[in-house]
Amino acid sequence: MTQKLSILGSTGSIGTQSLEIARKCGYEVSTLSAYSNVDLIEKQAREFKPKLVALADKDAALDLKGRLSDTDIKVLSGTEGLCECASFEGADTVINGIVGMAGLEPTLSAIDARKKIALANKETLVAGGKLVTESAKRKNVSILPVDSEHSAIFQCLQGKPSNKALKKIILTASGGPFFGKNKEQLKDIKPADAFNHPNWSMGQKITIDSATMMNKGLELIEAVWLFNVDPDMIDIVVHRESIVHSAVEYDDNAVIAQLGLPDMKIPIQYALTYPERIESPTEELDLTKIGNLSFYKPDTDTFKCIDICKKAIKKGGIAPAFANSANEQANLMFRNGQIGFLDIGDIVERVMQESPDIADYTLDDIHEADKLARELVKKYSEKR
Ligand code: NAD
Ligand code: MG
Repeated sequence: MTQKLSILGSTGSIGTQSLEIARKCGYEVSTLSAYSNVDLIEKQAREFKPKLVALADKDAALDLKGRLSDTDIKVLSGTEGLCECASFEGADTVINGIVGMAGLEPTLSAIDARKKIALANKETLVAGGKLVTESAKRKNVSILPVDSEHSAIFQCLQGKPSNKALKKIILTASGGPFFGKNKEQLKDIKPADAFNHPNWSMGQKITIDSATMMNKGLELIEAVWLFNVDPDMIDIVVHRESIVHSAVEYDDNAVIAQLGLPDMKIPIQYALTYPERIESPTEELDLTKIGNLSFYKPDTDTFKCIDICKKAIKKGGIAPAFANSANEQANLMFRNGQIGFLDIGDIVERVMQESPDIADYTLDDIHEADKLARELVKKYSEKR
């Protein structure tokens, strides 16, 4: 089926891989949007000829408008511009590849406009899981996971006999570049060391989240919302080769896993073609070349972000949004050289002690919590 895509975050790792798939499958691209990369989005716009393009940064959008003045492409800016792209009536599917909770409002707009959503932006579900899932249910909108683990779980659940038969989700984690290291060895880690992920090539923020294992904590929360399971039903297992993308265990102890080479084009494409499958540009998996698959328990003492997230989702309400915002700020400050690597988990943990008690939150509550969490991260980082 020809699809008309709205690609949010088109200049990023997920966005550019989504465009590769659109190119290969001949999908129409109706809108493109990103933060501020004018050069790349101009190039993309000239190739894919969308109807609408938006940049969150207003000055960059103005620059882009000038550059595209010889075309019919409408250029928008700010969060409103992103939301207009997400709800554009000429598109049927929205791929959300924005990084961070900036992706939440566009997701809500896409749901309101009843688009099918291929969701890579996990922070959308971590920060606003209740708002997003309730509104998707109300509008009868499907949210298809793009995150490789969640795509794997979703694939393993196809043909599931009943909700009751699902015993456990086995969420795999690569362990990142610092697997096996202790706190002493991680004390002096610099951003450049952490950018060196063993298996995946991704944007900067998620690469640091993978190094701290916050990424797995965020994914645990993402899984709770996507699959409507209790957090205790999710086991995190370190799997160094990133071949088993996750698994589910049923009541009869049968475990079904999804395997493949670590390449995001498989889950992106599946979210678009579901329930069908078509040929992929990704190489075939040759298990004999891989040889061995290894599995370990995560070291949650050194990588404390996993437990912070688990606690937050168990507490519920605004707590996961608070943890997410604290991490977004701490992650950024580490990348800017303002705090150390281990400070990320320590500060987020400290900030979580001041998480507001709001069970039934609104979008405004999330924004307020976001502001407070970021201020607290700055405050506690000064004291270090
Ligand atoms: P990236 O940094 O490569 O790209 C992010 C995109 O979002 C860019 O186009 C950027 O311009 C845009 N963006 C950033 N801030 C924005 C803002 N405030 N408003 C609007 N747009 C903004 O990131 P990525 O690696 O592609 O990750 C995107 C999302 O997908 C993240 O939530 C990440 O956790 C998730 N994800 C990524 C991968 C991967 O392999 N890259 C895998 C699984 C999940
Ligand atoms: Mg993932």
